[in-house]
Amino acid sequence: MSAVLKPSTASVQTVKLLINGQFVESKAAAWRDIVNPATQEVLARVPMCDAAEVDLAVQSAAEAFKTWKNAPIGQRARIMLKLQELIRRDMNKLAACLTAEQGKTLPDAEGDIFRGLEVVEHAVSIGTLSLGEMAENVATGVDTYFIRQPLGVCAGITPFNFPAMIPLWMFPMAIVTGNTFVLKPSEQDPMTTMLLAELALEAGVPPGVLNVVHGGKESVDALCTHPTVKAVSFVGSCHVGEHVYKLSSDHGKRAQCMMGAKNHAIVMPDANKEQSLNALVGAGFGAAGQRCMATSVAVLVGKANEWIPDIVEKAKSLKVNAGTESATDVGPVVSKQAKARIEGLIAKGVEEGCKLELDGRNPKINGYPNGNFIAPTIFSGVKPHHTVYKEEIFGPVLVIVSVDTLDEAIALTNANPYGNGTGIFTQSGAVARKFQNEIDVGQVGINVPIPVPVPYFSFTGSRGSKLGDLGPYGKQAVHFYTQVKTVTARWFDDAAVSGGVNTTISLK
Ligand code: NAD
Repeated sequence: MSAVLKPSTASVQTVKLLINGQFVESKAAAWRDIVNPATQEVLARVPMCDAAEVDLAVQSAAEAFKTWKNAPIGQRARIMLKLQELIRRDMNKLAACLTAEQGKTLPDAEGDIFRGLEVVEHAVSIGTLSLGEMAENVATGVDTYFIRQPLGVCAGITPFNFPAMIPLWMFPMAIVTGNTFVLKPSEQDPMTTMLLAELALEAGVPPGVLNVVHGGKESVDALCTHPTVKAVSFVGSCHVGEHVYKLSSDHGKRAQCMMGAKNHAIVMPDANKEQSLNALVGAGFGAAGQRCMATSVAVLVGKANEWIPDIVEKAKSLKVNAGTESATDVGPVVSKQAKARIEGLIAKGVEEGCKLELDGRNPKINGYPNGNFIAPTIFSGVKPHHTVYKEEIFGPVLVIVSVDTLDEAIALTNANPYGNGTGIFTQSGAVARKFQNEIDVGQVGINVPIPVPVPYFSFTGSRGSKLGDLGPYGKQAVHFYTQVKTVTARWFDDAAVSGGVNTTISLK
């Protein structure tokens, strides 16, 4: 574990809370180091907030909601318009911070920010996104319409692997729909998120509309049980997501949890070999495999099994180095604990008899002797009972399962408990259509390795990868963050003759 220190014992900068529009020092008793994964340099220290500090943030959000809920749609939309401009302005600064604290390469850090920026851009359309509907004359002189109203104080809890994109999945959509928000970023890399919070204030988000607290279980549980919080949005691992969903639901809150994954890519023998294998290797090892939509299982069908040596050669050609070095393909994993866990799973794969086609443990990286590096690692001969197949490894490890037919590939994927993403590589429209129809996974790529929908749609992981009906961003987020109210109205015409008393349920 990283050191947990009192603030007085070290001179590095501290990560602040954001409460009522002010960046303030936490009074937390416990603190945690934020460590550069390539160098082990301590970049800053983050407080592990308790329930009292969470309560301050929630109270600030509750106060701000009283006025923000009535802010005109145009005002809210224009703040998002400004925020997207500021994110573009500070792209390099944000990416440098993200690479330093998370480890991913600078171009991939820009991608992380850009995918979040797209949500901010989409939030600008809130006028049309939040329109209600009306039906005239549902009975004589009676109209029915519905309006969408904000819920109140909402909370978001985010993981370490996308410290820009995932906070931006949440707070812009929550705020633009008229709610106020308390964000709890990952304690492993909260600094980029804090830069985004600064930009939100600069863009005009009023005091108390966005608040940020830090920490782990204690602050998360305080948010999930706080009586004032109306909705909780979570992204992270399955075991924490299941806990957050139950705790929030048991406390009467609306909840959505996007969780772990084991994404299968099916490679058919008729696929465009070069394009498909490039896509497979990029999706397997990009971001050092620390993406919830990473390809972690390659299912090779029939003669595509002859391509294993080509996959290994492509993986070997990837350059492992610090994310700041030019031409790096694979950066370090986020922490020493993550590295040890992934190496333990690789050892387990060997012990259980999977064939280690490529062993990426302990690569020597010039200039970065202490980095958390693991180079691309590939197992073949993997079966569903093997630990490397069952566990979410969340590192640069690709497992290859060999099958004879498309039906077997579909059955294998559908039998896996996760349902985040999948893909098929084929030149056949009929095969792709059958796959799209029969596969029981929420996000499907056809010759597209990481099929994360753009924000006009919504993130739609399914089965064991998601709890709650509605996904983050897009129209589903508008629905998640608003309550529909239907109004049935009649206006009496003074000149009309009354029909008398009606004691039935029907409208006349
Ligand atoms: P994590 O579950 O360890 O942490 C997520 C959040 O939960 C953090 O803010 C953390 O502080 C908090 N937390 C940790 N332990 C807790 C506890 N015991 N009680 C309450 N809160 C707790 O996840 P991570 O390691 O930061 O992120 C990686 C995981 O996130 C992977 O499983 C990945 O698949 C998943 N993920 C899913 C999606 C998706 O959209 N489905 C996207 C990104 C990441």
